[in-house]
Amino acid sequence: MSTTTNPDILVVGGGIVGLAVARAARVRWPDASVVLLEKEPEVGLHGSGRNSGVLHAGFYYTADSLKARFSRDGTRQWTELCKERGLAINRCGKLVVAKGPEELDGLDELKRRGDRNGVQLEVVSKDEAREIDPAAKTFERALFSPTTASVDPPQVTRTLAADALELGVEMVFNVRARGRKGASLSTTAGDFQPGYLINSAGLYADKLAQSFGFGRDFDILPFKGIYLYGDPKEKRPRVHIYPVPKLSRPWLGVHYTIGVEGQVKIGPTAIPAFWRENYRGLENLDLREAFSILAIEAGLFLRNDFEFREIAFEELQKYRRSVLVEQGALLVDGTPMESFRTWGKPGIRAQLFHKKERKMLMDFVLEGDDRSLHILNAVSPAFTCALPFAEFVLDEMEVRTR
Ligand SMILES: Cc1cc2nc3c(=O)[nH]c(=O)nc-3n(C[C@H](O)[C@H](O)[C@H](O)COP(=O)(O)OP(=O)(O)OC[C@H]3O[C@@H](n4cnc5c(N)ncnc54)[C@H](O)[C@@H]3O)c2cc1C
Repeated sequence: MSTTTNPDILVVGGGIVGLAVARAARVRWPDASVVLLEKEPEVGLHGSGRNSGVLHAGFYYTADSLKARFSRDGTRQWTELCKERGLAINRCGKLVVAKGPEELDGLDELKRRGDRNGVQLEVVSKDEAREIDPAAKTFERALFSPTTASVDPPQVTRTLAADALELGVEMVFNVRARGRKGASLSTTAGDFQPGYLINSAGLYADKLAQSFGFGRDFDILPFKGIYLYGDPKEKRPRVHIYPVPKLSRPWLGVHYTIGVEGQVKIGPTAIPAFWRENYRGLENLDLREAFSILAIEAGLFLRNDFEFREIAFEELQKYRRSVLVEQGALLVDGTPMESFRTWGKPGIRAQLFHKKERKMLMDFVLEGDDRSLHILNAVSPAFTCALPFAEFVLDEMEVRTR
């Protein structure tokens, strides 16, 4: 029997989560054969290579959530790894600014969440915020997170892939997992019979999970994030500048981020997309998938579940450059329209939606048994969380196979 098609552990999905899981599995069980299956010709072509690249310090999420714990630990682990391996990292920190008095409660709530999660966070006055970054606009006060940093997601993803290969993970590219077929996994390259399957298929994780009898309560809804890049010659903010997010929504609002080379971008949006890999035009169009997603979105729109109507109206407008620049200008002085002309690579969030409860899930979700484990809702900040989250996934696998 070939170990490629019959490995001890088969990981589906070569994004940052699948790579971190495959790598950690070889470290934990050096005698186990680990294969990673990826439908694309290389790793990190979806969410993991199309994000803001920010290491989130861990103050947005309630302390009892997986996201809080793993973003705090993940930021520390990535920062150490980048230093050790000479990977690009910009440890510039982040200001969260308030647009008006109505946002001060939200700012205070973030501080409470950060404190409960043991995250270093300072409340600063408007003047102090201006000292940290003369371009920052805030009402009365702001929050400063000194440990927030940014990395180069494709570089980090490639490094993790190289580590995994060196540790003995076998990678199989251009092969798509179709779903369960009896005791096997059907793929476009024939059947695989892994000892254990870990599904980290990002935007398609729900489909794969459902074929194994899991994730039946959920559907993944795609939300598109687009970015506008600033002219590198312009004066730019020194730190990342974020708004106070609406805590009922799983994303953080349009913000200003500074890349590892100092490049500035405004975004991302959270525009309802019509199919899972709906990046540009009709690229990757799957009609059946598009009908089913449109049907769900039409239902959400009619019932206005989780304020979907407002989300759709607000977000769709952000396709216009002027609207996105205006959003940036609410946070930062001197955001000239003419210097934000270049659209960046869009990314799509694999947001989990609970079909019966009609709500978006806020935390990571795992479902599985003694044969397979399915990672659902690996949305932001799963990039930040990937290293500690991978250990948790393997712990969960151990519990289920004991
Ligand atoms: C716009 C945007 C901004 C973000 N900003 C941040 C940020 O600043 N910080 C942060 O921490 N996180 C951020 N995130 C979130 C982060 O990018 C994702 O949570 C993370 O990349 C998810 O990784 P993943 O491995 O689960 O998914 P992915 O990277 O999507 O990987 C899944 C892989 O599975 C493969 N696959 C899918 N189906 C199959 C199949 N059937 N067979 C074989 N292979 C399959 C895909 O090709 C893909 O390579 C952002 C996300 C977006 C979209």
